[in-house]
Amino acid sequence: MKAIVTGGTGLVGYGIRAAVEADKREDEEWVFLSSADGDLTDMAQCEAIFARHKPTHVIHLAARVGGLFDNMSHNLDFLRQNMLLNMNVLECCRKFEVKKCVSCLSTCIFPDKTTYPIDETMLHNGPPHDSNFGYSFAKRMVDVFDRAYHEQHGCHFTSVIPTNIYGPHDNFNIQGGHVIPGLIHKVYKAKTQGEALTCWGSGSPLRQFVFSEDLGRLMVWTLREYPEIDPIILSVGEEDEVSIRDVVHMVARAADFQGDIVFDTTKADGQFKKTANNAKLRKYLPDFKFTPIEEGIKKSVKWFFDNYDSARK
Ligand code: NAP
Ligand code: GDP
Repeated sequence: MKAIVTGGTGLVGYGIRAAVEADKREDEEWVFLSSADGDLTDMAQCEAIFARHKPTHVIHLAARVGGLFDNMSHNLDFLRQNMLLNMNVLECCRKFEVKKCVSCLSTCIFPDKTTYPIDETMLHNGPPHDSNFGYSFAKRMVDVFDRAYHEQHGCHFTSVIPTNIYGPHDNFNIQGGHVIPGLIHKVYKAKTQGEALTCWGSGSPLRQFVFSEDLGRLMVWTLREYPEIDPIILSVGEEDEVSIRDVVHMVARAADFQGDIVFDTTKADGQFKKTANNAKLRKYLPDFKFTPIEEGIKKSVKWFFDNYDSARK
């Protein structure tokens, strides 16, 4: 097996590196790509990467990724860049006869108006939330492509659907990033500048967070073992859903922050919840142990404080 990982320098890419390091196999070679290896929105550059590496397996992570506030102001960019990336990578997987490709969707692309918990069968049952419709429709199309490539060419292309992810090597940019890295960067500033820690929105939305190194292990398992074309939700259970308010307090505790915490309700809350059911994952891996969120947040805070100068921010 020669596996390439697109987006191998991002949050999830580093989670996969950790998983591969911890479970080395002699008959596997892994290559982790970044945008410096080629811009995958450009078909010629994408083809050159496949011609150079001749992969038998692909984990496709590369994407235009951003938090609620970046999505709200750039829906067109998220739609165009992700459509191009995904179409190019999947078509190259077909052309270069890749045996298996695992792409990465997200629970935030599910219908906005839905019943809970959501499961894999409900992906296309209605329009996504307005805040990120560009990203959502582009990602949903990956599932449509997986099915079509399988039907017409017999390809084994499938997708995983993680919930919110966090961990070392995240994008800690406050304006463009997600909530946990954003709060970690904000608590660093609050501590060093003697300010309050500000949470955007009311803190009442609910989320299931998965630690990037747990997701890495699950995605490596998906590439090696998961037999289906239909996607699989990779998430902690419904009982592990937490409020953003809980997360703020966990970040403050992990950073030993004693100052004031403020909730800025002039900022958007986004989707109230997107509770996902992980029964399909549990059917395959009943004993998989997730990192408890308090522990994962401690590791992430420590990583950011230790790597402040080099972290993406
Ligand atoms: P990330 O940290 O922002 O990393 C993105 C990666 O994609 C980087 O390696 C980047 O390369 C690469 N990339 C971006 N545009 C590219 C292009 N045009 N050509 C080639 N490479 C490009 O993202 P992540 O959080 O690890 O996300 C990985 C996957 O998980 C994505 O598919 C995302 O949609 C999905 N996901 C993420 C979350 C989350 O909470 N973060 C939740 C659910 C699903 P450079 O480093 O060189 O820029
Ligand atoms: P989402 O799950 O797609 O909405 O992604 P985010 O990680 O961007 O946001 C999750 C929730 O955290 C939303 O309710 C935001 O209002 C809230 N939030 C609180 N503080 C922050 C912050 O500093 N950055 C971001 N991105 N969201 C924040």
